[in-house]
Amino acid sequence: SRSSNADFPGIKERTLVAVKPDGVQRRLIGEIIKRFEQRGFRLVGLKMLQAPEKLLAQHYVSLQKKPFYPSLLHYMTSGPVVAMVWEGHNVVRSSRMLVGDTDPAGAAPGTIRGDLSVHISRNVVHASDSVQGAEKEISLWFQSAELIDWEGCDHNNIYHL
Ligand code: UDP
Repeated sequence: SRSSNADFPGIKERTLVAVKPDGVQRRLIGEIIKRFEQRGFRLVGLKMLQAPEKLLAQHYVSLQKKPFYPSLLHYMTSGPVVAMVWEGHNVVRSSRMLVGDTDPAGAAPGTIRGDLSVHISRNVVHASDSVQGAEKEISLWFQSAELIDWEGCDHNNIYHL
């Protein structure tokens, strides 16, 4: 129930996941959503957008000095992205595991990148790398009114409260 959720704040953890332009072009939106949905996480925000360069500059602020930064921005603005917010227990860490290593060559089979991509510069998906980073990224990509706090009827089968 909603009241018992409040006793387990970890269940309310949220992360930003984005299907990058190559993932959209390659018709992988459904496949990527499916993996988070079937794992048991709860989708609380979803939109397709042509990401503005200003947003991406803030999103990738820590990579500004990297040699690949200009090509990363070019890639991320090459077409629409699908931005999502997923919620659940340890969702930040679990999402990074679902997504796999940044370089698909080192990403384990079974992960999204390990199953669906080949090259580091076209690795189909983004997921926040820390709880703090997730909070920052969610506030960059979504307005609070775009996040829907709905009750899952399967909640008591996914969590033991
Ligand atoms: N990237 C790249 N070349 C590199 C490293 C990173 O093109 O050598 C891109 C890649 O798309 C990666 C993104 O920059 O997903 C962000 O890099 P980060 O190290 O934050 O990896 P992530 O958190 O996405 O796994």
